[in-house]
Amino acid sequence: METIDCAVIGAGVVGLAVARALALRGHEVVVLESENAIGTGTSSRNSEVIHAGIYYPRDSLKATLCVAGNAALYAYAAERGVPHRRCGKLIVATTPAQIEELDAIQVKALRNGVLDIVRLNGVEARAMEPELECLAALHSPSTGIIDSHALMLNFQGDMENAGGVLAIKSSVVAAKCVDRAIELELEDGTCVRCNSVVNAAGLSAPSLARRFAGLPADAVPTEYFAKGNYFTLAGRAPFSRLIYPVPEVGGLGVHLTIDLGGQAKFGPDVEWTLSPDDLVVDPARGDAFYAEVRRYWPELREGALLPGYAGMRPKLSGPGEPAMDFVISGPADHGVRGLVNLFGIESPGLTSSLAIGTHVAGLLGGRLAAVP
Ligand SMILES: Cc1cc2nc3c(=O)[nH]c(=O)nc-3n(C[C@H](O)[C@H](O)[C@H](O)COP(=O)(O)OP(=O)(O)OC[C@H]3O[C@@H](n4cnc5c(N)ncnc54)[C@H](O)[C@@H]3O)c2cc1C
Repeated sequence: METIDCAVIGAGVVGLAVARALALRGHEVVVLESENAIGTGTSSRNSEVIHAGIYYPRDSLKATLCVAGNAALYAYAAERGVPHRRCGKLIVATTPAQIEELDAIQVKALRNGVLDIVRLNGVEARAMEPELECLAALHSPSTGIIDSHALMLNFQGDMENAGGVLAIKSSVVAAKCVDRAIELELEDGTCVRCNSVVNAAGLSAPSLARRFAGLPADAVPTEYFAKGNYFTLAGRAPFSRLIYPVPEVGGLGVHLTIDLGGQAKFGPDVEWTLSPDDLVVDPARGDAFYAEVRRYWPELREGALLPGYAGMRPKLSGPGEPAMDFVISGPADHGVRGLVNLFGIESPGLTSSLAIGTHVAGLLGGRLAAVP
């Protein structure tokens, strides 16, 4: 059996960013993707927001990788011509109690190194966005939007230009972690022997890792799924910046985002589910959106929201439990040489993708063949 240097399982934005980072460091990389194209999973069902790194606990992976990823992503997108816009966002308080929450969010942002947040009163916020109703707001100028598919195509291009290979329709079903290598078993019976494996299978990463013989069972966290439904706005976008309420448990609240084509959408909400494949938007959920959105945009017309699409958050904590950090677990954590598992890469995974790539390449550095 031939041995390859490194296999990355999953061609979402994170798997591609990791594969790119490894290939650019001179390593032989094969990306194994079960579908017939890149980016058909969570990476094509999100808000496409470049987050600033505001909300996450200090020194968490989410905070550090998001802040580093934000800067890296703007630089990369500008250099490579990936469509994006640094449009900024407002986080709005619509009740007196939420004004205090804004204070806490601003402190958190400062601790994470997000230094450009500006506090606004209601009048100042309305001067920026005349249709907005709020008592106070935080303005984040370094939040933006990006074309995630163009980004993934660029990552794929970089990886291939550096000698990496994408293998579509290549579903990994199990693995054996033996002494000097990891043997991956594909659905068609093919066996691939690898020095290193990065499990970037998104929603399936924990269930796949449980089929890695030799990986301790307690190295794989329990997974939960929280669907996020979007409703699109018929007609003109009322705001030029992204508008977020203060966060809710499990998500960032029903916020307004705009895509690069100018289409406004609201969401995602939080719908806990046991079925990660259930991505149908129930039109009845729109009723709750009207009330949420009218808190900050009272002019929302009845009937203006249309069911859009849904994405599935790969969660590591269940309903009512505190949010978990990304889990990027390497050999020092689980004891298996050459293996890195990526668990719970929910938002801000898109923003963090370049930084995650660098981080994972660092974890595998000593294990991979020497860079020529
Ligand atoms: C509703 C929602 C909104 C979001 N909004 C934002 C946002 O605005 N900004 C932001 O930064 N982040 C956002 N995120 C998070 C971001 O979308 C994810 O962190 C990111 O897309 C995860 O990428 P991934 O490559 O880990 O996973 P995925 O995109 O899911 O890719 C995993 C890939 O692995 C493949 N795969 C699975 N099993 C196997 C197997 N056994 N063998 C081979 N291949 C396999 C899948 O087919 C898939 O292509 C959002 C997420 C959600 C759900």
